[in-house]
Amino acid sequence: MTRLDTKDALASLYAEIEGRNPAQPEFHQAVHEVLETLAPVLEARPEYAEAGLIERLCEPERQIIFRVPWQDDRGRVHVNRGFRVEFNSALGPYKGGLRFHPSVNLGIVKFLGFEQVFKNALTGLGIGGGKGGSDFDPHGRSDAEIMRFCQSYMTELYRHIGEHTDVPAGDIGVGTREIGYLFGQYRRITNRWEAGVLTGKGQGWGGSLIRPEATGYGNVLFMAAMLRERGEDLEGQTAVVSGSGNVAIYTMEKLIALGANPVTCSDSGGYVVDDKGIDIELLKQIKEVERGRVSEYAERRGASARFVPNGRVWEVPADIALPSATQNELDEKDAETLIRNGVKAVSEGANMPTTPAAVQLFQKVGVAFGPGKAANAGGVAVSALEMTQNHSRTSWTAARVEEELDRIMRDIHTTCHETAERYGAPGDYVTGANIAGFERVADAMLAQGVI
Ligand code: GLU
Repeated sequence: MTRLDTKDALASLYAEIEGRNPAQPEFHQAVHEVLETLAPVLEARPEYAEAGLIERLCEPERQIIFRVPWQDDRGRVHVNRGFRVEFNSALGPYKGGLRFHPSVNLGIVKFLGFEQVFKNALTGLGIGGGKGGSDFDPHGRSDAEIMRFCQSYMTELYRHIGEHTDVPAGDIGVGTREIGYLFGQYRRITNRWEAGVLTGKGQGWGGSLIRPEATGYGNVLFMAAMLRERGEDLEGQTAVVSGSGNVAIYTMEKLIALGANPVTCSDSGGYVVDDKGIDIELLKQIKEVERGRVSEYAERRGASARFVPNGRVWEVPADIALPSATQNELDEKDAETLIRNGVKAVSEGANMPTTPAAVQLFQKVGVAFGPGKAANAGGVAVSALEMTQNHSRTSWTAARVEEELDRIMRDIHTTCHETAERYGAPGDYVTGANIAGFERVADAMLAQGVI
């Protein structure tokens, strides 16, 4: 087939997927962004199209939706919706986080699961892709309420997961505390100490060192690799970082360790800019210990910091940008602002934080752009290392895990870079990540027959 035929075929396939999955704009966006880059590989390997690979890849293997009833501290009953989308298991057990956030719906979980398939393939670690969560809002809930919610959620989820089947972890709204309650309930129901059924566990009971840090650290390592490619490093670079959760915090920590200067953080209320650079210990105290808001950071930090309510963090001038909050948080206008202010590289710590128009703009003007599938794969990669440690009943030193993380992120960068070059798109990490991830999953699916 010629390039035009392939593009036409992909476009009609996309239209069909859109029609079959109505009202799931984020899922459409994630699929579109991948299909757009696959033409060259489908031309080079016609057997993929013949095996209906794209059609199968875009349809989750299994989608589970369930009721999650729970009682608040006053005894009032609430009903939330629970999801687990088991997207693709050609390379290993389904693997991916759980998100607890009021915005969660089936389309969001499917977009995240779809991305996860490619991301996990890029790690080279034998993990399939899945994602789950609930529209539960943990904000302002007591510890006891969080526990009851997690227990109710697991009371349904336990029958679908297992160390060789599906291994959830954290995402927005799900950290070590929630994984603890989920793990406790799984253990109670099944009467099994099955450490490898969840990752992101606490360090005293099967968790891996460096797992909390891994997504953020990994993203900075990916950013460093992109800069190295241009003959630069992180030393002295001013960085704009969005978010103030686990990914953002450890992104900043690693940036500082490597000589860069992160000057911002944000939450749903607005952003903070700190002329002296973010004081990471203060931010950790407020966010991780007190579970507070970034506005409190500005109040306590002193003259160098100010809180901008409802502002967009991208208006702060910087050399590099690391969006680490949530999907579609950086749009075309934001990209224009960043470019005007001289940004030279953007690396996604969150999943799909940059809109397609913004990505295009960055690429058009030559800003290095690292897509989340590649750049934020460090988190799930260390989850896979946690599974390895659990299976062998050992725990590695922090230094060993960091060394592995470093190697994995370098490999992912090299793979994306080389794949982009091989398919005629030098420097295009989006194409490189999509094609490299696709090839790994597609080859496994091809070998395993039409299932
Ligand atoms: N939620 C994370 C991600 O988006 C981590 C998933 C995991 O560790 O399984 O990749």
